[in-house]
Amino acid sequence: MDRIYAPWRIEWVERDADPIDGCPFCVLPDRENAREARVVARSDRNYVLLNNAPYNPGHAMVIPNAHVRDWTDLDAETMLDHARLKAATLAAARRAIDPDGFNTGLNLGGGAAGGSVEHLHTHVVPRWNGDTNFMPVVGDTKVIVEAVDRSYEHLHEGFAAGDGVVDAGDLESGEAVRLSFEAEPFGVE
Ligand SMILES: [Zn+2]
Repeated sequence: MDRIYAPWRIEWVERDADPIDGCPFCVLPDRENAREARVVARSDRNYVLLNNAPYNPGHAMVIPNAHVRDWTDLDAETMLDHARLKAATLAAARRAIDPDGFNTGLNLGGGAAGGSVEHLHTHVVPRWNGDTNFMPVVGDTKVIVEAVDRSYEHLHEGFAAGDGVVDAGDLESGEAVRLSFEAEPFGVE
């Protein structure tokens, strides 16, 4: 059976106990417990959020701290930091969950967005040979929540073992891994 693979359709799914007022990608990084908010890593100008309705284990999004709608609206520093955090996310996932490949991309504007969130975000979806969409396979909210929490632990370890780590962050206390790339610009050893 052929499946249409559309990993960008589902965005954040709110949990009833913790409603979000306003733009989720502006609100979630300010939550006190980063783990509960699914914020797994932060850099100087961007952060990494795990998708709460993943298409595959480890489905993450790289998001600028600032509420920016379009790639062309990013300033140069934020764009570079975004790209470097995306590279760190790929490296963390390879280290932690060993996928065969990735789908990664942006939805910009209107129908392409597939959701109501108008805050720029780059999807990073790990893929395994022969995988199917995670959601229809699992199809149970409790199982998905537990699976996302396990992915959080794995990626947290993956980020903490990678480059640019300023603070590895205490997983038990719900802290994200803190990264900075400003001290090591491209092309300089
Ligand atoms: Zn926002």
